[in-house]
Amino acid sequence: MDPGSALTVNVHELLEHPGSRKHFSFDAPVEGLSNELVRVPTDPPLHFELMLEAIDEGGILVRGSISGEYVVSCRRCLDEVRRPFRVEVAEVYRQPGSGVWEEGFVVDQERLDLRPAVRDNVVLDMPLYPVCRDDCAGLCSRCGTNLNRGDCACPAEAPDERWSELKGLLGQ
Ligand SMILES: [Zn+2]
Ligand SMILES: [Zn+2]
Repeated sequence: MDPGSALTVNVHELLEHPGSRKHFSFDAPVEGLSNELVRVPTDPPLHFELMLEAIDEGGILVRGSISGEYVVSCRRCLDEVRRPFRVEVAEVYRQPGSGVWEEGFVVDQERLDLRPAVRDNVVLDMPLYPVCRDDCAGLCSRCGTNLNRGDCACPAEAPDERWSELKGLLGQ
C-alpha cells in the first residue's frame, strides 16, 4: 500500500467507533484501468464520492460513486472518443483472518486500499462493444476510408457469385 496516495484511506477513527461513518470526496488519477477497447486516462482524474462505515467485526463498508471519463476506441471505425461514466460502488473491507473476504479488500494496519474496488467496479462496467455513435458507418472494407467522413472511391459492392448460384438452385 502507498500511504501517500488518496486511494489509501486511514480508517483508524472509524474502527474506534463501530457504527460511525465518514464521507470522502476527492479526485485521484488511477493507472491501469483498461480493457481491449476502453481505457481510463489519468487526466482528468477520477472523482470519488464515498461513504465509509464501520460495520460489525472491524469491517468497513465502502459505498458511493466513482465518476470519470473513458477513452473509447469505436469498434467500427476505430476513432477514439471520450465518454463520461459513473459507477456505483458497494464493497466490504475486512480485517485479515476474519473469515471470508475477497482478495485485496483488506483493512491492513488501519488502512484500506481503494484500488481493488476501483478496478473491479470500473473495469467491469466498461462497454464491451463501444461505438463512437449509434449510426457509425465504419470503415470501407476495401480501402479503409472512414465512411463517417465521406464516401470513398471504391465501386459499389459486386454481387457475390456463389450467392447468385445458390439462389438459382433455390429457384429464386
Ligand atoms: Zn465509429
Ligand atoms: Zn473504399
